[in-house]
Amino acid sequence: MRTITILGATGSIGTSTLDLIEREPDRFKVRALTAHSDVDGLAAAARRTRADYAVIGDPTRYAALVEALAGTDTQVSAGPDAIVEAAATGADWTMASIVGTAGLKPVIAALAGGRTIALANKESLVSAGALMTASANDNGATMLPVDSEHNAVFQCFPHGNVERVRKIILTASGGPFRTMGANEMGAVTPAQAVKHPNWSMGAKISVDSATLMNKGLELIEAFHLFPVGADRLDVIVHPQSVVHSMVEYVDGSVLAQLGTPDMRTPIAHTLAWPDRMETPCERLDLAKVGRLDFEAPDFGRFPALGLALAALREGGATPAVLNAANEIAVAAFLAERIGFLDIPLIVGKVVERYRPPAPASIDDVLAVDGEARAYAREAVGGAA
Ligand code: NAD
Ligand code: MG
Repeated sequence: MRTITILGATGSIGTSTLDLIEREPDRFKVRALTAHSDVDGLAAAARRTRADYAVIGDPTRYAALVEALAGTDTQVSAGPDAIVEAAATGADWTMASIVGTAGLKPVIAALAGGRTIALANKESLVSAGALMTASANDNGATMLPVDSEHNAVFQCFPHGNVERVRKIILTASGGPFRTMGANEMGAVTPAQAVKHPNWSMGAKISVDSATLMNKGLELIEAFHLFPVGADRLDVIVHPQSVVHSMVEYVDGSVLAQLGTPDMRTPIAHTLAWPDRMETPCERLDLAKVGRLDFEAPDFGRFPALGLALAALREGGATPAVLNAANEIAVAAFLAERIGFLDIPLIVGKVVERYRPPAPASIDDVLAVDGEARAYAREAVGGAA
């Protein structure tokens, strides 16, 4: 029996994870489930799985959660510190699926436990990648990538023989505006932006997929997960999202992982690793798919990709600044305060204006993150 904690249990990744573990109740025992404010979703999941702990991030929702879990053995707590405590209870396997840098402290607490961390929360790695990989090494924790591209690379990567890799090639669907002209893109609504052609995901990552910032964040994520250096990371647009990413070797071999676009496949890979487990995912039928297309990314229409690439090359605090500014800009776009094309403009402005020294600790990262958010809010005010 493996104990399981899900940080961000009510989100898209969290509910997909629950779906898998609830199919095998003899194999998995839920330790802790956390959510930000969705009391109903959290309480229902805690009841179904008989979780030991349920934690709500928003402290004003504490009484509601207590009421919703009355008569159960689940211990209830609230607030950001309680989420960190839940992450530190040392489950055998922890899903890090909180969205944004809000997930950073919990993931650090989970890494300190030295167990297996399935990492979906890419923003934490973008902001604090070097500190997180150092913490994983120091504590003997295993970080398994959940992001479909990185999970694909992980499955094709020659662990221990890195110098034989010529390139890691991340595939990008291109998002809902792949073929749209820049003028038209200026007028798109949040509803259009979150309507991803292939994947069903949370709102923030869906907008990131539409700007291609998601692929930029994923380049930085790949840099920290696979030690090949920034120059050996590449992106190719592949609208069908069947090839989830590739590793090219020095002999010309290119290994790829393929599958239908369902996050339960990479999640299951991290749950069962190094074994495999069954999933209810639709099987890949290549005859039905018919063709696989590939094209170079358009850095002109999707400037977020170039901003992220520049932040990766610059290193230091820049990826944390880029990420924080993006979180604020995306939230402002979703709230209809700014336009779609303002997102990369705001991120670019903040990265240019705010140039702090490289963070040496998680507290440094969080300070940079907070300051970059303040600059971004100011820029949002200017654009709104
Ligand atoms: P989501 O918005 O559906 O869910 C986010 C979860 O985090 C929810 O459980 C929410 O309660 C919790 N949360 C939000 N803000 C919080 C806060 N301030 N404090 C504590 N908890 C908070 O997001 P998602 O699509 O499931 O994505 C989660 C993470 O996984 C993101 O980092 C995303 O980039 C990454 N990811 C998602 C997918 C996908 O298919 N959805 C794919 C790859 C990577
Ligand atoms: Mg991805």
